[in-house]
Amino acid sequence: MSGHVAVVTGGSRGIGRAIVGRLYADGARVVTCGRGDRPAYLPDDVFWRTADVADPGHADRLVAEARQAFGPVSLLVNNAGVLVAKTVADSTDDDWDRLVGVNCRGVFNMARAVLPDMSEHGGVIVNIGSISGVVADFSSALYNASKAFVHALTRSIAVDHGPLVRCNAVLPGWIETDMADEGFDLARDPAAARADAVRRHPLGRFGRPDDIAGIVAWLASDEATWATGQCFTVDGGLTAASPLRPELF
Ligand code: NDP
Repeated sequence: MSGHVAVVTGGSRGIGRAIVGRLYADGARVVTCGRGDRPAYLPDDVFWRTADVADPGHADRLVAEARQAFGPVSLLVNNAGVLVAKTVADSTDDDWDRLVGVNCRGVFNMARAVLPDMSEHGGVIVNIGSISGVVADFSSALYNASKAFVHALTRSIAVDHGPLVRCNAVLPGWIETDMADEGFDLARDPAAARADAVRRHPLGRFGRPDDIAGIVAWLASDEATWATGQCFTVDGGLTAASPLRPELF
């Protein structure tokens, strides 16, 4: 990774934190952001900016500052995302603005900001989608739809900006983070819902943030130079299983 200048959005915790740690450990120069203050865990030479990816001005500034610090951005990981746990009927205009602002517009803002340099010097974009953009999680309508947008935008970026730019999406299943807790807290019995969910994973556990950081690092590397425009599901096999109720067989 030592050739990469990487921008990872949403690096303060969860999956983004693991991606920052992995790319940094592998030698990339890393820039990350979130809406809060610089997190204490970050090594001193990781560049932090407080930024809201939903704001096009913040996205442009983040990329310009990354360029100034380290040179043209060669790797963008669009990881920042939010969950609104509601049905369509319950979702408000504010929910739409917040969720679509971060999960859709944020990905667009950041991609648009890096593409001029990447179209000249080459680059890799990895978008964090979700299995929820393929199979609908209950009571997460706007979230599910926003991730389908991310998958489709991934293909368009690959098609429009190859051959110098490669763009892929990683579709995590349930990964142990604050966001996953928020999802399971919706269940009538969160502990029972968790136990049932674990049972449905052929790999017998939930994912860990490092499971996602590993495939992001692979997609960013020269091992993946023939991969573009694809959505890579990394879910412990959850969506490989038939939806029929396993206890009846
Ligand atoms: P977390 O809620 O744990 O972390 C989200 C990160 O995004 C935080 O660093 C947060 O920082 C940042 N963020 C949120 N909004 C913004 C914004 N507007 N601008 C900049 N940064 C922002 O989530 P996860 O780590 O679980 O999720 C990371 C990604 O993975 C998301 O895109 C999510 O949809 C996806 N995903 C997660 C799954 C899971 O099971 N956990 C499953 C499938 C996909 P701050 O709040 O300080 O701004």
